[in-house]
Amino acid sequence: MFATPAFPTHDPDHGAPIHPRHLGTVLVLGGSIAGLLAAAAVAPFADRVVVVERDPLPDQPGPRPGTPQAQQSHALLASGCAAIDELLPGASHDLVVLGAHKGDSAAEVHTFAGGGRLTATVAGADSLAVSRLMLEAYLRSRVRELAVVTLLDNTDVRGLRGELTMGRPRVSGAHIHDPGDQEGEDESLDADLVVDATGSPGRAAAWFAREGWDVPEHEAFAVGVRCATTHLARSSGDVGGRTGVLSLATRQTPRQGLALAQEDGAWTLTLTSYEDRPPPADPEGFRAFGHSVDAPEIGELLDTHEVLEPPRPYRLPHSTRRRIERTTLPSGYAVIGDALCSLDPNFRQGMSVAALQAVALHDELAQSGARDKRVDAYHRRAVAIVDQAWDMVVTAVHGIRGTGEGRSEKAFVSYVAAVQHGARSDPELARAFLRVVNMLDPPQALMRPGIVVRVAGAAAHLPPTHLPSVHLPVHLPKVPLPEVHLPSPPLPEILMPVQIAARRTKARRAARKGGRTAYKIKDQGSVS
Ligand SMILES: Cc1cc2nc3c(=O)[nH]c(=O)nc-3n(C[C@H](O)[C@H](O)[C@H](O)COP(=O)(O)OP(=O)(O)OC[C@H]3O[C@@H](n4cnc5c(N)ncnc54)[C@H](O)[C@@H]3O)c2cc1C
Repeated sequence: MFATPAFPTHDPDHGAPIHPRHLGTVLVLGGSIAGLLAAAAVAPFADRVVVVERDPLPDQPGPRPGTPQAQQSHALLASGCAAIDELLPGASHDLVVLGAHKGDSAAEVHTFAGGGRLTATVAGADSLAVSRLMLEAYLRSRVRELAVVTLLDNTDVRGLRGELTMGRPRVSGAHIHDPGDQEGEDESLDADLVVDATGSPGRAAAWFAREGWDVPEHEAFAVGVRCATTHLARSSGDVGGRTGVLSLATRQTPRQGLALAQEDGAWTLTLTSYEDRPPPADPEGFRAFGHSVDAPEIGELLDTHEVLEPPRPYRLPHSTRRRIERTTLPSGYAVIGDALCSLDPNFRQGMSVAALQAVALHDELAQSGARDKRVDAYHRRAVAIVDQAWDMVVTAVHGIRGTGEGRSEKAFVSYVAAVQHGARSDPELARAFLRVVNMLDPPQALMRPGIVVRVAGAAAHLPPTHLPSVHLPVHLPKVPLPEVHLPSPPLPEILMPVQIAARRTKARRAARKGGRTAYKIKDQGSVS
């Protein structure tokens, strides 16, 4: 399906700031999105970076066994796109030249949230529609240009090598093996820093247990996602000339649809079920499922365009994370991407989380101070990035499933539903919501006073029974904007999520003892 792209070449030293190379050898375990971005992040500080990947790595875009998800639709959120450009300048421009579509998702993508179409607006949320296979191949080509980096593919990591330094375990390398040579001995690679980018959070747990180190607690959140992806022929006038359609699942319609224009001129289309049964694999059943999501454009695409291949199914029962913040990790070890947290794919966060973490790793290594302290500081930021994504998934899945513990979580779910409802007609609410979805702003941004007032104003125009997916906990007063005087009884209710968020933020700050904020990309001209 992929024509052979001619990847542009770069001089990686051109214009790059010079940093002291205070690391000798860095091993990056896993050569997928997180591993490649980690290699780019540490390269300015290391004499040598070796990326160890089990699969043979092709020069061109192509599937491989270690990343079975790569043939499902992937979108790169605006925050991830900006982070990749920061690490590898010009990356998104190159990808656009190769056929990817970059644009403000608030204007370029028809978004249905909470059962309604969000009004088009300007959100400064430039996301990238590109196949995951193309993105990974491009990143490989960029990382190969870095003089200090070697990609050691077709090599299995069997475990970590450790020693005890001043009472704290220290990772000093990794045991590797040629997967084609079952009889052969493991080899050992030395490293000053080992970055774990092996994907599933479970792998390192076994390695830690074998060494007798504390194994970080493993947390799973049931998401029960079943999806299937196909490709459709595409013409430029489809869906009003936009490059994407996103139909988010709701309590009433626990089904999701995502169509994205791809660099090869086709649509990639993923249908997702939060129900017990997956989207049907037969053409008629798949088409009918497409018509059952909220965005009519998904069904229309299936009616009018040739389906180029049978739908490819995928199942993800849980989002999982390693609670590294609750234990002391061995020194000389850093973790990034899905190896730290794998998220519900329907929120399109995984690659962006990895990219934001890679920027955080780069920034922390650029600071002066002891290396172990810098890595600890990186982990605090990496966890903060995960928290942001994880909280969004948990809130949204509770909204879809009608679950959630206690009044506070339910109130938060209701509040987000009210934001989505208001975003159908209020461009500022659409902007605020999509900036959070794109991880440009934290979820707390939805509770800025200016946003709360707009949500109240929008909700006041409908009786609560007409609200889209989850009812607001109170009858909101009918108030004219912009002079809003909310009477006292409803105010505490609508502000409850604000108070909860403030409490959570305070608790996290205390837990992190002054860890730095995760958000580098500032909102230009927010409404609050
Ligand atoms: C269905 C689906 C759809 C998704 N859609 C999106 C989306 O739209 N947007 C988005 O941002 N994210 C999406 N994601 C998430 C995204 O795929 C990942 O979060 C992202 O690719 C980061 O992955 P990673 O590099 O951390 O891990 P992985 O991609 O899992 O890579 C791990 C790598 O480590 C290698 N490896 C593992 N063990 C070893 C070993 N012992 N020795 C050597 N190598 C090893 C593997 O071969 C692999 O190359 C989706 C995920 C799924 C499942």
